[in-house]
Parts: sequence; C-alpha cells; structure tokens
Amino acid sequence: MSMPSEEEMQAAIAARDQSLDGHFFYGVITTGVFCQPSCSARAARPENLRFFSSIEAAMLAGFRPCKRCQPADGVARVERLVTVARYIEDHAAERMTLASLAAIAELSPSRLQRIFKAAFGVSPKAYQDAVRMRHFKQSLKEGEGVTDAIFASGFGSLSRVYGEASRNIGMTPKAYRAGGAGEMITYACRNTALGLMAMAATDKGVCFVHFGDDEESLIAKLKDEFPSAELSVSPAQAAPELDAWMQALEQHISQGAPRPDLPLDMRGTAFQMKVWQFLLSIREGDVLSYTELAAHIDKPRAVRAVASACAKNRIGVLIPCHRVLRGDGSLGGYRWGLERKRALLDAERERRTR
Ligand SMILES: [Zn+2]
Repeated sequence: MSMPSEEEMQAAIAARDQSLDGHFFYGVITTGVFCQPSCSARAARPENLRFFSSIEAAMLAGFRPCKRCQPADGVARVERLVTVARYIEDHAAERMTLASLAAIAELSPSRLQRIFKAAFGVSPKAYQDAVRMRHFKQSLKEGEGVTDAIFASGFGSLSRVYGEASRNIGMTPKAYRAGGAGEMITYACRNTALGLMAMAATDKGVCFVHFGDDEESLIAKLKDEFPSAELSVSPAQAAPELDAWMQALEQHISQGAPRPDLPLDMRGTAFQMKVWQFLLSIREGDVLSYTELAAHIDKPRAVRAVASACAKNRIGVLIPCHRVLRGDGSLGGYRWGLERKRALLDAERERRTR
C-alpha cells in the first residue's frame, strides 16, 4: 500500500482525518514523538514533520509513540484484523454479516469495512469470496492457510481470484473432506444381478457403493476415494447394519424390491451435493437429461458440471445417477459401465408398468 501524497498527509493531519489512520504515521522532530493522522495534539510546523508508512518505520527512525493517540495500538488493530481474516477463512462456507465480523474486531461495521480494505486490499465480503474460490480450487483437501497464500500472492492475483468467484456464484462449496482422515469405514462385498457389489459405510451411513468384476479392484477404488480412512472388512455378524443394508440393496437390484431408503453419507462440493440431492428426488422409472437436471437446480448453463457430478457419484444405485441421460435420449456415460445402466433402467421401467 502506498502512502498518500505529502499534501494529502498534511491536509489529513490538519483535519485530524480519522479515515487515514493506519495509512501513514507522522513524527515531529522537535518532540521525537510520532502520531496517527487523527491525533488531537497541537499541529506542528510542516517543516518539522516526517512521514512513515508503518509504526516499525517510525520507531526505526527513533520516534516514540505518542501517549495521546497511541499509534502503537495500530499493532493491536492489525492483529484484530488478522483475527477477522482467520475467522472468515474458518467459516467461509457460512453466511456472515459485516456486523458480526465487526463485533469480533470490536469495531463499528463501517470502520471495519474501511480498515480491513486498507489492510488487505479487499472488503471482508470480497475476502470471503476469494477464500471460497480458493477452497473450491483446492477442493479443501489440504486445509492450508489462505491468509498466507493471499499475502504471498499479492493484491493483483487476489482480485483475479475474486473476479472468478463472482462468475462462479452459486458454486460456493462447503467444506469437503472426501479423504476421510481418521475415519472408520467398514465394507463388504456381495454378488448381485449387476455383478460384484462393494458397499462401505461410516457411522453416518452408506458412503460407497461400487460394482466391478473382482474384489481387489473394488477395494482399490474404495481406498482411492477415502485415502486417509481406516478401512476394515466387515464379516456380516460384526456389522449387522451393513449386512442388512447390503441385503436390501441386493434385493432391490436382483429381485425388484423397492429401492431401500438407507442413510447416506454423501461428501462433495456444494454443487455436487445439490446435484445428488436432486437425483434422490427423481421418481423410479423417470429419466431426465443432463440439461434438464441443470435447469432443475437453477444452473441451466452448468450442464458439463452436472454431468461431471453424476460421474463422480460414489454411491451407485442408491443415488440414482443412472436416471440421467443425454439430450438425444442415448444413455450417455455411467461410472460402472453402460450395460449396468441399461439393466437398471430396464428393470425400473418394467416395475413402473407392472
Ligand atoms: Zn499523537
């Protein structure tokens, strides 16, 4: 941040302009004291003033902080601003008001807005958007400090990130930790009409249903999706719930029983969650296109992102991504192969007409 011109600084001192506090400090060589622009001390002669961009610079030049305006409090204020910035980082996915942030900083909302922008180059709101955007890009997998990145990247690139954030409005992701650090996940495999099925669950519910040809590759997939979780294979008697859930899903797939309403532990970005939630609401036997789905969730132009969210579904059949087709009615893609997609749709259509 550059200092105002010398004329502006002299005018600010004469006017005791509070809005420029923090933008510069001035020392008076006859007293050896340095002040904030708003200090109520008697005005010194212009030729006796020295200007500094920071408290450190003033003190390095041998000036003492003024007892009246206590410019060293600026340090405490910067610390409070950093506290606010950290709070925004930790709660970026939540709604927050300027008033609630101002309460944290013990400042008035308008003052927080002004000095936050002076310190970081953006308003608290823009800072939050930038954090969200960063979270989005990093998929929140690392939990790395955003302040560091923003300080390091400088205002120019921050404003670039902000520009992207405003173009991506509505895609603000929630905290997303698919890695499953420290979590216990139990899994088991079972044969179904769609081939071998692996189901895995956390204590919140089913987090993984995949289909494949052999147990080894299914477990490799599970490890891939939850690299940091503790996986344990579950004999039926040790996890009666998982066993019951697998049986219910198998009966749905193989014998046409109704789709079981199992507890799901879905993890994804806010956008993915929206897509998957919508899929859960589609009636059995109904199909729709990626374009229609995008329109239903009020993101008519996010067709490719919708298709990608479907392709990233980890909970096959239970989150019925197989009910989404291409615009021309062709099957499109399916994570577990088009044959399985066709079989699921045929079975559902048949049950509807029965
Ligand atoms: Zn002073």
